[in-house]
Amino acid sequence: MKFNTKTIHGGQEHDPAYGAVMPPIYQTSTYAQTTPGGHKGFEYSRTHNPTRKALENSLASIENGKFGLAFASGLAAIDAVIKLLKPGDEVISTNDLYGGTYRLFTKIFEDFGIKFHFIGMENEDKVASYVNDNTKLIWVETPTNPMMNIIDIKAMAEVSKKHNLLLAVDNTFATPYLQRPLDLGADIVMHSATKYIGGHSDLVMGALIVKDEKIAEKLYFIQNASGAVCGPQDSFLALRGIKTLHIRMQRHCENGEAIAKYLKQHPKIEKVYWPGFEDHPNHNIAKDQMDGFGGMISFVTKGSDYEKAIKIVENLKIFTLAESLGGVESLAGHPASMTHASIPKEEREKTGVVDALIRLSVGIEDVDDLIADLEQAIG
Ligand SMILES: *Cc1c(COP(=O)(O)O)cnc(C)c1O
Repeated sequence: MKFNTKTIHGGQEHDPAYGAVMPPIYQTSTYAQTTPGGHKGFEYSRTHNPTRKALENSLASIENGKFGLAFASGLAAIDAVIKLLKPGDEVISTNDLYGGTYRLFTKIFEDFGIKFHFIGMENEDKVASYVNDNTKLIWVETPTNPMMNIIDIKAMAEVSKKHNLLLAVDNTFATPYLQRPLDLGADIVMHSATKYIGGHSDLVMGALIVKDEKIAEKLYFIQNASGAVCGPQDSFLALRGIKTLHIRMQRHCENGEAIAKYLKQHPKIEKVYWPGFEDHPNHNIAKDQMDGFGGMISFVTKGSDYEKAIKIVENLKIFTLAESLGGVESLAGHPASMTHASIPKEEREKTGVVDALIRLSVGIEDVDDLIADLEQAIG
């Protein structure tokens, strides 16, 4: 089955009760048993719920995995991955990381005795140089947020295989429409399904997808034992979102390209970060491991500072100033004061998240209207 069919049919069957084409919202916490243990595979909705199961099967299918797990948020999904580890274990992570992931790693899990190394991952030898006997996991986000750096997943998989580590990839920005990390050698794919997977800015959800049964078993155990699961209503919405993922992504990519090119030629723009440009430092890797370049773009205007950047995002009329990304509507954000405010200024400026940086999540509206909006806001 090809991707554009999988988004609609992958892992799905019509509801066995009445043949409903869409899985019903099984809004129930528990399931009747005829005798203790006599049930139809469902006992309690923290452990299993039929609507969530339908979503998890869909997620496994679109990522070319075998097992899907849906969580209450992207961070709950990451939290479950780190719970595979023990005190004393070490993680090598991308330094240009989603702010909430950085906060979870440093403010929660460091206190539990897990050590994180935040490094630039442009070079596999550099990553390998951080491996020691305690290293258990490589955590990759690509494209990175908000600098749109590209990390070579295949190269990271080589390092992880050689040293018997787990490789997890946050695939939130690319989605499986553009990039399938399990095919490139990753062990775990993670999503903030809040973003493109849901796609309509109407839910908060996380997902993990794996191929290996042993890793899946451990993660299902943690999912049930820690209990950060999503509800049936949100599962239904995410599943509905996935059914149009391919056509939404196609338009996100088209609009993203047009806007990246518009910004690049604009006399008031200093720098545009988008992996589709040939002069992007990792363009060739992006071309290799992605099927397109997506709708996430960051830029800096000439001579800009904190105040000027804030003025631009305030002036936008069609782009909404908001946290988050990946919805049908275009959003603009100011990472230094919003998504990345939890990262110390000194740390974030090292990776390019300067006060003047603006991040766009290009939606699927008419691109002429979006460009006109940027034109008037940049002035
Ligand atoms: C939003 C986001 C997360 C966190 O997901 P939540 O659903 O907000 O918990 C993690 N990684 C990336 C890249 C994100 O954009």
